[in-house]
Parts: sequence; C-alpha cells; structure tokens
Amino acid sequence: DSKDYDSEVESICPFCGVGCQVSLKVKDGRVKYVEGINGPANEGRLCVKGRFGFDYIHHDHRLTKPLIRREDAPAKGLNVDPGDWSTHFREASWEEALDFAANGLKGRGREVAGFGSAKCTNEEAYLFQKMIRQGFGHNNVDHCTRLCHASSVAALMENVGSGAVTATFNEIENADVAIAIGCNPIENHPVAATYFKQFTKRGGKLIVMDPRGQALKRFASHMLQFRPGADVSMLNAIMHVIVEEGLYDQQYIDAYTENWDAEKAHLEGFAPEKMAEICGIEAEVLRDVARTFAGAKSAMIFWGMGVSQHIHGTDNSRCLISLALMTGQVGRPGAGLHPLRGQNNVQGASDAGLIPMFLPDYQTVTDDGVRSAFTDVWGSGDFSNEKGLTVTEIMDDVHAGNIKAMYILGENPAMSDPDVEHARDALAKLDHLVVQDIFITETANYADVILPASAFAEKTGTVTNTNRQVQMGRPAVPPPGEAKEDWWIEVELAKRLGLGWEYQSPADVFAEMKLNMKSLDNITWARLEGQNAVTYPSLSPEDPGQAIVFGDGFPRPEGRARFTPASVIAPDDVPDAEYPMILTTGRQLEHWHTGSMTRRATVLDAVEPEANCSLHPSTLRKLGAVPGDMVRLTTKRGSIEIMAREDRAVSPDMVFLPFAYVEAAANILTNPAVDPYGKIPEFKFSAVRVEAV
Ligand code: SF4
Repeated sequence: DSKDYDSEVESICPFCGVGCQVSLKVKDGRVKYVEGINGPANEGRLCVKGRFGFDYIHHDHRLTKPLIRREDAPAKGLNVDPGDWSTHFREASWEEALDFAANGLKGRGREVAGFGSAKCTNEEAYLFQKMIRQGFGHNNVDHCTRLCHASSVAALMENVGSGAVTATFNEIENADVAIAIGCNPIENHPVAATYFKQFTKRGGKLIVMDPRGQALKRFASHMLQFRPGADVSMLNAIMHVIVEEGLYDQQYIDAYTENWDAEKAHLEGFAPEKMAEICGIEAEVLRDVARTFAGAKSAMIFWGMGVSQHIHGTDNSRCLISLALMTGQVGRPGAGLHPLRGQNNVQGASDAGLIPMFLPDYQTVTDDGVRSAFTDVWGSGDFSNEKGLTVTEIMDDVHAGNIKAMYILGENPAMSDPDVEHARDALAKLDHLVVQDIFITETANYADVILPASAFAEKTGTVTNTNRQVQMGRPAVPPPGEAKEDWWIEVELAKRLGLGWEYQSPADVFAEMKLNMKSLDNITWARLEGQNAVTYPSLSPEDPGQAIVFGDGFPRPEGRARFTPASVIAPDDVPDAEYPMILTTGRQLEHWHTGSMTRRATVLDAVEPEANCSLHPSTLRKLGAVPGDMVRLTTKRGSIEIMAREDRAVSPDMVFLPFAYVEAAANILTNPAVDPYGKIPEFKFSAVRVEAV
C-alpha cells in the first residue's frame, strides 16, 4: 500500500556482493520495510536478508554517542554487555573523543595499523587507506578481502592482469555451460542464484563442484562432491582430458596467452584415472565434465570461498583461469571468470586501495611513479614503497610488540580472524585502539575509544558490487543520536592528525578518486545520482559500462594472459588419530558474517536464532547423539560446544560450522596458516575432533 509510508529512498542492500538495489520505505523516521527495485544485478528481486534484514539499524544497541574507556574499567577482554557498557566506557563529546583518538595515534608512524571496511562506501575506503598512508607513512592497511578473495585476486592479477570479474554474473544468460565451484549461491548470493536457476531452466548445463552438497545440486547437470582439499587434483585432471583429447582452442591460445607449453607439459601427470581416488570423483565423470565444458559455445566459471580460503587458494584460482583460457572462454558474451565477491563493497574497497600491496586501481605501492602520482594529488605525505602487512600479519606484529595502536573501522577481527583468541589477545595488548562502528562489536570490547558511525540506510556514498557496477547509496533516515557518517568521522580525525583534509561531502572525495583511478573514467557523481549504477569500465559518458572485458587482449605484457601451472599442496592441518575429521566454516542464508547486524534483525534472528553446526546422520549415530544435541568440537587451537543438526549434504568425515555466532565462535577453531601468494587463511580445512557432550 503506497499510503503505508511517508517517503521512499533508493539505495543498495548492505549485505552480499550481489548489490541488489532497494527502496527503503520510511514511516515516522524509521525504515518500515524494504522492496527490491530494478537494479542491474537484481531486477526487483531480493533475498530474505535484503527484504527482512534491515531493522538492526533501529536496534537498542546502536551507539549514539562517542565512548571513551573508563580509567577504572575492568581489564580488556570479551566482557562488555553491548546493551549496558557503563562499567567499561563513559560518554564523551565528539570534540573530546576525536582529540583522544587522534592524540593516541599521532606521530606514531609504523606503530599504527589500520583495518578498513568492505561494508563502508568507496569514498570511506579511499579516505581510510589515504589516512594510513599519508598520515603514518606506510602501507599497513587492509580489510576483509584478505579473509575472502585475496587469493582469487592474486591469481587474477598475476594471470589476467585485473582483479575484477571478466563478465557480470548476468552473462550466464548467454552461456550454455557454467561451472559453480566452492560457492553456495542459494545461501550466499541468493539473487545471483536466481539467474543460475533461470539458466538451467533454459537448458544450460550447470556443473556444481563442492565438497559439501548444497541446494544448487537440484539444478545441476553434474554434481562433483569432491574430497576437501583435492581441488587442484580435480581441476588439473579435467584440463588433462582437454589436452589429451585435443579439445582446447589453439587459435585463442596462440592469439591471447603465454606459457601454454609449460601448462600442457605440467598437466601430463594428472590423468583422471590417477586423480580419481584422490579427489573422490570417478575418472569417467571427470572426462565427461571436461568434454561438456570444452564443448560449450559459451561457458562461465563462478567461484567462492570454497576455492579461495585454502593455503592453495591461489593455485585453485590459477587452475580455473587456465581452464577458461585453454578453451577460449573469456571476453565473449556468456563467457568469463567470475569470483562471486562476498561483502557488499569488497570489490569497491579493494578498488579504492584498502590493500597493503596496492593503491587505488591496484597500482602497486612499490612503483615510485605511482606513489608520487598520489602524493601529488594529496599534496603531502610521502609513504613507504614496501608492501604493507595483511590483516593476520598485523596481529602477529602486535604480538611482536611492533604495532601498538590501531584504527579499526567496521571490521570485527575479534570474530573474523582465524585462531581468533590470538587476535583477541593482540587487541587486548594494544595501548591505543580506536574502533568506529555502529554497535559495540566483539572488537569494540577492546577499544579505548569508540566512534559511533552510520548504517547503510543513514549515509550517502557509492559501493561497487561483484559485477563491477558502481552504485549510489542514499540516506533514508538520520543516524541515531549523535552518530555520524563514517566519511565525516574520518575527515575530522585526519584534521586532528594534521592532514589538512577539507572535503565537504562524499562527492568531493569521489572527485579526488577519479584523478588517479582510470576505472572511474566516464563515471561521475552526477551520473550515479541520475542512473543509480554504472558498470566500469565505461567507455563514454553515455556507455552504461562493459559487462564483458578482455575480448581483445588483456592488461598484461603484449596483451597476453598467462597460464600458471598449479601443483598439489596438501592442506596444512591434516586429520590424524586425535583430530580425525575435517572442519569447514562458512555462512548461512540468514546470517551475515560475524552476525553483528543480522543477529539484531528481528526476522532473521527469529528464523535462525541459535548457534549450530551440521553433521552427517551417520556421524551423529556414532556419537550416540540426535539432532538438537550439543556436541564439542576441538581443534589444535581450541574447543567450542554447539548444537548439532543432521545434514546429509555434509560427508561423514566433515563438520560444517557457520561463523556468525559469538557464543560458539567458529574461529576459535580455525587454522591461521595462509596461502603464500594471497596470504588468505585456510578457513575451509582444519582437523577436528567431534564428541558428544
Ligand atoms: Fe542483499 Fe545479497 Fe540478498 Fe541481494 S542477494 S538482497 S545483495 S543479501
């Protein structure tokens, strides 16, 4: 009923990287409900999170005033009640809190590190990395991409020359075959999944590859439930068949690639008959998949964190890139490589330089010319040409006593880091921690000062989705109490650090970003205000943007993409007699990441209220347990107790554990070992013991 609200505002869903456009319906100063509108990625569709997951913005726990840790507060630990923090913190004015935050950071150079956020806007991400580089002279700034697709980006940069997708997911409409590997789109990218389903309805062949069964299986022509960690063996076996049977596209390889001979030679040792037992998939199935993919007119490859979150995550992506290149499946309608990005602005935050190795647009920090192009625009603040530390390396450096102060914006390492007690101990050790957020998150428990920020429905700014679509977010309601937009807080902090920032609005920041970001050519603030979304690259002021890139070569030497052969690396933490099963972690449809928003959303919390893990029925039987019983999960890092569910999609030697629940935090258990290239932790594989409680 259109009379049911006072106003409506068009913005972007704050959860996953699909980037659905929404209309926020406002009544009496509160968002009353949300509807999908006709954005390029969602065409009016929304999933349960986008439709019902908004009322956390009005939750009683929202921070409404700056807070400073009391001198008589208990020792730092995970011990603050987010609804009653008065024993730990006192209210402060913005003036006092900003001065206190800045004074604890100022002049400390290499002792300071920053975590920015993939939930904030592009402008806020840009300002954050600029503050660390210009203000402290180094590159120790990172964000959650390190925990989700860093290895995919490493492989794409290495072999394709660009870290973003080569085709939008909507291009599946023009494909006849698609692979979805290590992703679970029905739960994690639900609106993208609707396009996958439509594709199969039209007769498209969907090849799903995942160690865990999943709902997309119902739509698949092939379901390869391979052994955890055997990805490289399986993908190399498929490529072996393509070589052996001469199914590759020699013309494309000659025109657009390099290092093919090395790849071809490397694949000789991966005959499906040899790999079948290792990956748990019959040789004939591997051969059939190879023929199906290579025989496609147009084929796409989608992947998620099941691919990336391994110590061999970069190798997994190298295989997928090689598979697409050898079959010429890049740069045409219905063809392409698409890592499904996680958070709503992880693509944009990465593009904006919130990465320790790269400035905006993936320009390397080691290049003097690149650095001076930025300092020329910034007017001051030369910074190091050394690559900075990543999220997990920063925590190690805190323990080593080198980093003593941090600025964390909208990130929650006290829940999201692997071996999370290590991260919590590091946060407790800091002598100055500034946290900017909308709730007292687990990380804010350790803060010296908390700056109350804005939720998506309270701020202006652009975000970039998994499709490279830059979209405009708009405020529907004001922030509660004295909370402020994140860009404003960053600017005020920078002024106190002596950086002389004078931005009056996010539009001013966007204008500066365009000076050194070619990806934003032809994309202006005015265009985004008028059109809501423009895909980059956009070739003219009228071009809505290129859904498909690299049809005529790659942004690499001589325009050629590269084959990088991938060898098999075993998981770091292999099962043994003491820890005989495999733990894998991930998300559920209803809850987002560390749960700070969705567990405060009434409908989502009602649908999925309790920490849970999934076990195969035979595992439960062996434990003498029934669904709903508590079980104890123990790894070399720690132990949690959690309610067990029965799930036939999980193989008998596996446990699936969502990481949204603080009361049974999955990352107490996970392994901090990282991929040597993408430096991403191995969240998807830990040896675990399961016991009845
Ligand atoms: Fe939001 Fe993603 Fe759901 Fe779309 S698919 S409504 S962006 S959570």
